[in-house]
Amino acid sequence: MIPNEVIEQIRDHDLVAILQEEGLTLKREGANYKCCCPFHNEKTPSFVVSPSRNIAHCFGCNKSWDAVGFIREKNGMTFYEAVEYLAGKLHIQYEKREPTPEEREAQYHRDMLMNVNAAAQEFFQDAFNRAPAAQEYCKARGWSKDTIQLFGIGYAPKGGGLYRYLVGKGWKKDLLLEAGLVGINESGEVYDAFRERIVFPIWSKTGYVAGFTGRYIGENPDVAKRMKYVNTKETEIFEKRRMLFGWFQAARQVTTNETVVLCEGNPDVMRLHQIGVSYAVAPMCVFAAKKGPVFQ
Ligand SMILES: [Zn+2]
Repeated sequence: MIPNEVIEQIRDHDLVAILQEEGLTLKREGANYKCCCPFHNEKTPSFVVSPSRNIAHCFGCNKSWDAVGFIREKNGMTFYEAVEYLAGKLHIQYEKREPTPEEREAQYHRDMLMNVNAAAQEFFQDAFNRAPAAQEYCKARGWSKDTIQLFGIGYAPKGGGLYRYLVGKGWKKDLLLEAGLVGINESGEVYDAFRERIVFPIWSKTGYVAGFTGRYIGENPDVAKRMKYVNTKETEIFEKRRMLFGWFQAARQVTTNETVVLCEGNPDVMRLHQIGVSYAVAPMCVFAAKKGPVFQ
């Protein structure tokens, strides 16, 4: 079991140093560092590390990572294995305790939810690249390509396709239902939870996709009125009152500037980041709880 402070300390550590330690030859270019991506074959570097955000992004893979996410991908580890690995490398001391079988099972389950969301994220981003209507919508919003990539914006096609895609990759229906990626209608048919929507992945502060928000861009006035935005239902890793859209991209800058700009919606966050206000975030739910939300 790993205390949250350990995860925080890893997150606060300089990502450039961690990646160099992992064997990447990063070259400085302006405010960023670049190298050839370790996850896909290329001759021109498209792997960019932003020290000001303390995250890395590959414009070829269309993916972003913090230290934990990078180690997970590189070593094929679970979230918790990657945290343990990095805590060891960075000599972060904490009281180690072997998880009970139940805790280990719970960790494994959380990890499966993270992984299936990552697979869905790939599907949505792929669909986005093949959907002129989705690209048009983003253009009209004034989002640049870089901003769209930074936030990992995707598209859920009108005819669905996610369920078929994920089952084809070996994912089980029950997990997809639990993750809120699909639903079941009265006649027992499975349907995609998001259709004809721009999809905003909601990253946890610790760098995994916890859930999604979908913005309807179709022509049906009824849907546009009643369900313009829909979120993934609450899951074990997606507790809306604890989430902020943009937190993954903004966390380092919020700490550095000791300032946070709280926006009403996801589009506002993206516009602000685009003009350099990289400490903007948006809550996932109305501030209704008396105690107020507790963000992670
Ligand atoms: Zn890549």
